[in-house]
Amino acid sequence: MRDPLKVHVCHECGMRFLFAVDTQEHEAETGHKLYTTIQIGDTAEGKTERFNPTINTLCRIMKALCEQNSMNRTALSTVANVHYTRLSKCLELLQERNYIELVIQDRVVNIRLTEQGREFASKISDLEI
Ligand SMILES: [Zn+2]
Repeated sequence: MRDPLKVHVCHECGMRFLFAVDTQEHEAETGHKLYTTIQIGDTAEGKTERFNPTINTLCRIMKALCEQNSMNRTALSTVANVHYTRLSKCLELLQERNYIELVIQDRVVNIRLTEQGREFASKISDLEI
């Protein structure tokens, strides 16, 4: 049985965030203070709702890493179609949560999913994006 995936929804504009830290950033940018945490995939409604770019971005990164065993940042940026700066920020988050690890192969730093990262990837791959 999988843990349900939770997202934080902004009351003001309806944007969704996977991580509480992203809501803090959103609050700093927009002044929106109220968020509700909901579970995704529990209801038919949850499945058909649209997701914000934050989640889409993470989904693309995780998907790319799932398909390739490991990749460097530049390749990942291209495959996941995420701007390098944004990608670095996402990778920091993923690394903090122990979803990815950095490995040095042929003197290049590559990114690959950890065991937890694979679980997380399989969780978010259920999302319709
Ligand atoms: Zn908002």
